[in-house]
Amino acid sequence: MCDILLRMLRQTLQTCALVCLAASSPIQGQSAVSPQTVPAAPTRADILRGEYGPYRANNDLLSYDLRVRVDPDKKFIRGTNTIKFRMLKDDARIQLDLFANLAIDRIAFRGADLKYEREINTVYVDFPETLRKNHEYAIDFHYSGNPTETGRFGGITFKKDAGGHTWINTACQHVGASVWWPNKDQYPDEVENMRLSVAIPSDLVDVSNGKFVRKVDLGDGYTRWDWQIHYPINNYSVSLNIGDYVHFADTADGKTLDFYALSEDLDKAKRQFVQAKSMMEAFQKYFGEYPFKKDGYKLIEVPYSGMEHQSAVTYGNRFANGYLERDWTGVGISPRFDFIIVHESAHEWFGNAVTAADVSDEWIHEAWATYAEGVYVEHMWGKADGLKYLNGYVSKVRNRDPIVAPRGVNKVPPQDMYFKGALFINTLRSIVDNDKRWWAILRDYYRDFRYRNIMTEDVVRFFNRKIGKDLTPAFNQYLRRPELPALELRFDAADATVSYRWKAAEPGFDMPIKVGRRTAWLTIRPTATWQTMKLEMAKEDFDVATDLYFVTVTGKPARASSRTRPGARP
Ligand SMILES: [Zn+2]
Repeated sequence: MCDILLRMLRQTLQTCALVCLAASSPIQGQSAVSPQTVPAAPTRADILRGEYGPYRANNDLLSYDLRVRVDPDKKFIRGTNTIKFRMLKDDARIQLDLFANLAIDRIAFRGADLKYEREINTVYVDFPETLRKNHEYAIDFHYSGNPTETGRFGGITFKKDAGGHTWINTACQHVGASVWWPNKDQYPDEVENMRLSVAIPSDLVDVSNGKFVRKVDLGDGYTRWDWQIHYPINNYSVSLNIGDYVHFADTADGKTLDFYALSEDLDKAKRQFVQAKSMMEAFQKYFGEYPFKKDGYKLIEVPYSGMEHQSAVTYGNRFANGYLERDWTGVGISPRFDFIIVHESAHEWFGNAVTAADVSDEWIHEAWATYAEGVYVEHMWGKADGLKYLNGYVSKVRNRDPIVAPRGVNKVPPQDMYFKGALFINTLRSIVDNDKRWWAILRDYYRDFRYRNIMTEDVVRFFNRKIGKDLTPAFNQYLRRPELPALELRFDAADATVSYRWKAAEPGFDMPIKVGRRTAWLTIRPTATWQTMKLEMAKEDFDVATDLYFVTVTGKPARASSRTRPGARP
């Protein structure tokens, strides 16, 4: 990332922290039915992890060269990360991260040991001289210890497979990659490329990110596996998968697909992983070329459900369709495909290539990957099924907190960033109301932002420009406020009219919406002011296209709701 971008981003982060905190303040809460939770004050640890402070902003990462040696029996890791960076201003201190339970053996710079200061999981590194703006530097960060298993997927886990073989995996999104290796553990700044060397007992296989370069027998019972990552990569994507892996391969749409399964699961993997072919075809067709061509696409069996590790997507969905054998959106479509193969691979386009610059804006990953599931369904089984699949997510939406979380404080957004976010993107498609144009916009969105770290403001600017309409209030209503916009209807039987207006917390909220008969929708353009139109049908037959536009409707006679509402699902 260039320094101008970093500077702009830092300004954005500071400004937006205020705007966003204000938007999520309960004083601004508009709805009595969906009370907002008061955000907990960030801890010192959250600020240290989340804030893009002066000792992070004063440098731009260039590369990591991480060499680790893993002892499965002792659950012990020892390694060195050579961190290359360019100074963006004169300074003598930088901020890195390594979990406090891991030892710093030494931090070396030009052959001498550097001083450092640790605070919780932060490591401030001090240089004996001022580092100069625009100059490049490299330090060797040596560390060791027994990493802690923590977080949803374990961070780093030391397990055994059913056959008793060692099985070690990392999955540390939100926990932080510094749970197992030292790095600049934040979102906005990514290295341009990375080398990863993993020394393990010679009877095991390591599958990591990037292109496999070589393996070297170290002569002491250990073998080193070398991987080269040719693209920017976020820290949590960097992964180890060490086990009794076997490899097989296939091709799809001009891309090689490399699959790694435990030897005991090879047959099941061969049956299930074939779905990666239609995934690759669908996403290359609708979004654009697979982003990490030089690194290749890998799908790797792991003991947790799955994770979007860049060019090394991990899979633990029990070799069954749906999500952990459930009909995930509850409308009979999820059992047709493997949720993890489709969702986690979609992150290669949205999450890994197009990346949020703060965890607060992670809908840029999750809403888009969830929407991409609908795109996959549409590619495979048609538009009606895609729409039905996405609307199955309605029952999972909570409307309790804004999708964009407070910034700079390591705050993970609420679950609505997935499901409500995807339904909002579907709403945007209905606003565009022209499929050819919509798919062209999505391809441009991916092309313009790939390999970049962006914020919600960048997305809003892009869509405003492409759609040719200021949709900022709509983005704000869906992303920065908890409650859905409501279409208010008022029927007048005597006049045979219906009046309509938007009721939304966001000032200036307006968007078109389709109403009337399902077989021949009429597009109306409500605003906050009442407008009236002739009612050409019985009021009970007047419908609103709530499967195309994710809104609530008030004042409509009870009979018909156009949305298929599935039963509540876990
Ligand atoms: Zn995801």
